[in-house]
Amino acid sequence: MLTARSDLEDYVEASNAQRGVAYVCRGCRQPVIFKSGRVRCPHFAHHPGSACAHGAQMSPEHLAAQVLLAKALRDRSVTVQLEAHMASLAGDRRIDVLASPEGRPDVRIAIEVQMSDLTIAAIDARTQSYQAEHVAPLWLRLYDFSKWIDAQRLRDRGTIWIEKHYARAWERWAYDHLGQFLWFMDSKTLRLWRGTFVNAHSYLESSTWYDSSGDEQSAGGYFKEITQWVELELQGPYRASDLLLHRGRVRGADGRQRLAAWFLAPGETRPPDGPQVRATIQLDPVHAYPYRKLEVKVDGAWRRANTQDAPANWRQIDG
Ligand SMILES: [Zn+2]
Repeated sequence: MLTARSDLEDYVEASNAQRGVAYVCRGCRQPVIFKSGRVRCPHFAHHPGSACAHGAQMSPEHLAAQVLLAKALRDRSVTVQLEAHMASLAGDRRIDVLASPEGRPDVRIAIEVQMSDLTIAAIDARTQSYQAEHVAPLWLRLYDFSKWIDAQRLRDRGTIWIEKHYARAWERWAYDHLGQFLWFMDSKTLRLWRGTFVNAHSYLESSTWYDSSGDEQSAGGYFKEITQWVELELQGPYRASDLLLHRGRVRGADGRQRLAAWFLAPGETRPPDGPQVRATIQLDPVHAYPYRKLEVKVDGAWRRANTQDAPANWRQIDG
């Protein structure tokens, strides 16, 4: 964990902690160990055997992501609290990064860095708790980008195209209900990307056969939606320090309005107006066979997408 309390202060971040000072857990009040190594960012840990939920072990990537976001936001005068408590929260009551504009503690955004899995019931319940408290959630997918084998580029958009992303159920839920985008963070580079999901399809070949009565039967010859993975457009990469945090109301796939938060890229005043990539199944007008059409929106108009191999260094920022 990144915060603890001392005799003098009830909120101390590990980056400001000192050796030789006694710290206790903000949850269970048991002594914690201050760890300041060369590899991992400074943090606190319970003594072995602790069952405290507050100190649940976070991966080094998770801690690094929180620290990076906190620094980037504070550099823009945003007020940040790490591991903020919210008593009414379902499940783990800590918020990874709680952010408010300077002097406006009532305007709150909860950034949840999510690397592990989460059930739909859990993300739904947590999102509901946030709505009740007027806190806008931003679920940030922390992901090891090297798991994607093939990356392409959507030429007209200058974005990255991943043909197979095994989106977890919670990612789809957040995508569908909290704005039709999902922000990703590369767990190795800590760069940020805005993700758009596109339904994947597979073509079932048509086949014809004769059944036992000698009647001709046929099947296939159409596209079927694939649910195991999605196609993913990634817009970026951005440095956390280049992005603005923003919040507003969005309408979910279920028709309900919710408070949500997102990043704005340099030059943007609001998020894109819905997905800028889409795949549709069309019928060829001459031969009447179905085909899948991948399109991108350029200057407000849909046009057929052109893909090419992504450059080898696509995860890095140029210049
Ligand atoms: Zn504890």
